[in-house]
Amino acid sequence: LHDFAGRHITVAGLGVSGVPAARALAGLGARVTVVNGTDGERERAQAAELEQLGVTVRLGDGETLPEGTEVVVTSPGWKPSSPLFLAAEQAGVPVWGDVELAWRLRGPDAAPWLAVTGTNGKTTTVRMLASILGAAGLRTAAVGNIGVPLVDVVLGEGRTEGTSYDVLAVELSSYQLHWAPSVRAHSAAVLNLAPDHLDWHGSMAAYAADKGRIYEGNTVACVYNVADPATEDLVREADVEEGCRAIGFTLGTPGPSQLGIVDDILVDRAFVENRQRQAQELAEVADIAPASGKPAPHNIANALAAAALARAFGVPAAAVREGLRSFHPDAHRIQHIADVAGVSYVDDSKATNTHAAEASLAAYEHIVWIAGGLAKGATFDELVRTAAGRLRAVVLIGADRALIREALTRHAPDVPVVDLDRTDTGAMSEAVREAARLAEPGDTVLLAPACASMDMFVNYNKRGEAFADAVGELAAAGH
Ligand code: ADP
Repeated sequence: LHDFAGRHITVAGLGVSGVPAARALAGLGARVTVVNGTDGERERAQAAELEQLGVTVRLGDGETLPEGTEVVVTSPGWKPSSPLFLAAEQAGVPVWGDVELAWRLRGPDAAPWLAVTGTNGKTTTVRMLASILGAAGLRTAAVGNIGVPLVDVVLGEGRTEGTSYDVLAVELSSYQLHWAPSVRAHSAAVLNLAPDHLDWHGSMAAYAADKGRIYEGNTVACVYNVADPATEDLVREADVEEGCRAIGFTLGTPGPSQLGIVDDILVDRAFVENRQRQAQELAEVADIAPASGKPAPHNIANALAAAALARAFGVPAAAVREGLRSFHPDAHRIQHIADVAGVSYVDDSKATNTHAAEASLAAYEHIVWIAGGLAKGATFDELVRTAAGRLRAVVLIGADRALIREALTRHAPDVPVVDLDRTDTGAMSEAVREAARLAEPGDTVLLAPACASMDMFVNYNKRGEAFADAVGELAAAGH
């Protein structure tokens, strides 16, 4: 189904992907109904806007399938077990996510996709990749789950100035992949796999299978993490085009068909231009973070994954180096905020799960750790056990902080813990003051919550901003 004129499409949810999808489909002449479970002020304003485009909006019932629906287009947040999808299944109606819709809307000359997924590091890797592709003179953009709806990109492609691309760097979430059966990337990477969002997917196996979808139909390379064998298993299970290669990345010395590190240099043994040689030097590790000196290990891994995808697309070594040098990380991802009284304050609010927090705790020696929030069903024993030796003290905030406190009691009984017993927004200010009191010169106060933010803040950005504000107050108070 590529011609949407006159087709009856139901869009599930008025979210960040639902609204652009409804707008796009209405523009293509489809008969669009949006269903949304909640019926608040915000939803009514959105509904009014869409109704002007001829879209029917049903608020307050997200469960019954509208009569005559031919396809359901869902927002990625909707759980597969939602009654609407069960109804669709019974009626033999296909369910597509926003990415599937975008894929089907691509024109014949659309740019190929280099796709990235993984539990952590997606956004960073996709931005590094776009930076490398740009340095090679390719017309590109970082799109998808990163906050740029693919439907809009694909519909705009080639139609106005600046919208023609040679290749797209696409971030895909496990939710999006779940609902994207026919997407076929040029090459794709799964960065890592750790338990996350299991409440949505139902099980680790289902979560892994959804991530693995990204490799299906790849034509040139399936990029996996040598240190995370589960990602290699996904490559093995994938059905790819003939000639498509499995390419590993490793922080160690690379084997054949791998990219890795030798003497602080990023080395490519997979895509070697000169056949006489067995390896191609790409960049120095220091190129990854020229401003602050030493990049965190997980960002070296992200850079290798980005380089692998770029090399699969034929990008020369010099562009990899230039792209990594001109790359700047997004806010709230191991962002150095300030030094106050000899103590360094670092915002990694984006560490919303234990796997991410483990990576950022590994990057520092003496840490006063600010943690807590919504645990999303996670357990903290492994994280606390790995980090215990680096912890000067811990300050806990948020709804599920008891889970972290109990893990600390079990695995780090000597580390001082301040349990703030607060879930209001102002708690961050007190947490930073407490952390400052516990820190010694040379220490790092690290906000790496290992939890989602929604119990206290609108999102992780706001949580990070509250942290930076609190550090500002601290500096102003002359500590
Ligand atoms: P995503 O888009 O997958 O959420 P980000 O690039 O935004 O990933 O990084 C999120 C957080 O995950 C970072 O703040 C950092 O703590 C951690 N992180 C980044 N890259 C990795 C990695 N390769 N492995 C483990 N943790 C990582």
